[in-house]
Amino acid sequence: MPDLRRSAGDTIVVLNAGSSSIKFAAFACDDPHTTALERLLYGEIDGMGKAARLLAWAHDGKPLPGSDVTALDDTPQAYEQGLQMLFQWLRQLVPGRRVLAVGHRVVHGGVEFVQPVCITPEILERLDALSPLAPLHQPHNLAAIRVVAKLAPTLLQIASFDTAFHAGQDWVMQAYALPQKIRDAGVKRYGFHGLSYEYIASVLPTHLGLQADARVVVAHLGNGASMCAMRERRSIATTMGFTALDGLMMGTRCGNLDPGVVLYLQAHMGMSPTEVENMLYRESGLLGVSGISSDMRLLEASNEPWAQAAIDLYVNRIARELGSLAATLGGLDALVFTAGIGEHSASIRRRICRDAQWLGVDLDADANEAHALRIGSVGSRVSVWTIPTNEELMLAQHALALVQDGARL
Ligand code: ADP
Repeated sequence: MPDLRRSAGDTIVVLNAGSSSIKFAAFACDDPHTTALERLLYGEIDGMGKAARLLAWAHDGKPLPGSDVTALDDTPQAYEQGLQMLFQWLRQLVPGRRVLAVGHRVVHGGVEFVQPVCITPEILERLDALSPLAPLHQPHNLAAIRVVAKLAPTLLQIASFDTAFHAGQDWVMQAYALPQKIRDAGVKRYGFHGLSYEYIASVLPTHLGLQADARVVVAHLGNGASMCAMRERRSIATTMGFTALDGLMMGTRCGNLDPGVVLYLQAHMGMSPTEVENMLYRESGLLGVSGISSDMRLLEASNEPWAQAAIDLYVNRIARELGSLAATLGGLDALVFTAGIGEHSASIRRRICRDAQWLGVDLDADANEAHALRIGSVGSRVSVWTIPTNEELMLAQHALALVQDGARL
């Protein structure tokens, strides 16, 4: 058991390991008497599997000297090189600081993991079993944990789950209309992006005041995309389901799809389950419809008709799901945009809000173009917001809370 007594110089490192990048951040928790966290730096190793490079920024957003590495391919070796580089780089950049714990984003916690946990080999095995439910993310999340365990065997590692925020939803919001034996096997709607929603829920009172506890829909629009209906800042319903494929159209994922399509592809178009999986997760969404890119910036800049068609479909899906979530809440008081597209694309927000006028959404065009925090008009019945998410802070808070618990034992 590592020494968890805290002292000045203690640092929590958080990792969000994906297929082509590892996002990271380091937080100082210098005062052993509080749970205050101060972000020292953040960044990402991108291009994993190709020529990876480390990009980082200081707490104030100023670029830090990065580092280049050539990784082999999309394997644990690439992760090992990348993470080794990260820890060396951290040691140089923040000398004299002790890494107290590493917090990891783990996408799927299944039925069992609804709270952050300290990783043990047994827990890792149980999380491995959930990889088929999140093939784009889970294997990479777990590979990073294994590499850190190899590089620093005594370091405390803590997993926080994207599914956890939704675990308290009512049964009807989570159930599929399937036979009991299938439901008993854990086939239900889990929902994802929970760390992002948890962060937004935590800052809603700062921005929305009393309205924070009213009927709020948060749209997390990044490479992955989902929406969450909240009341009293708790998840009531969400667009993603058993896997992170369901709901909205995404960068490369199809979103909501008639299960009959999957049956048809396999029974009549000769596709194997692996081919179908590959197509639905990696070749669909904005990329599949446009035939150009999964990157919204490129599609917005393109004059190609299929780029515009992809954006039309993207917005249409969001507008429909927003109506569905508002129906679930019995109305709508506030709409919040977050993540890459939600925070940065004024035109996507404008189009979504135009489709949501019937709900009482009215945008302030200038505030929207300026990416202001509050972007609804003064007279808008529904208040509208752009709030940057911070999943890394959630990971660090969860890790520190478990460190505190561990130190008390
Ligand atoms: P991830 O799910 O990987 O964390 P992000 O939240 O970083 O994803 O979001 C990535 C998406 O945000 C990409 O589709 C990217 O094109 C889009 N994005 C980032 N900046 C802008 C921008 N200025 N305008 C439009 N889209 C943007």
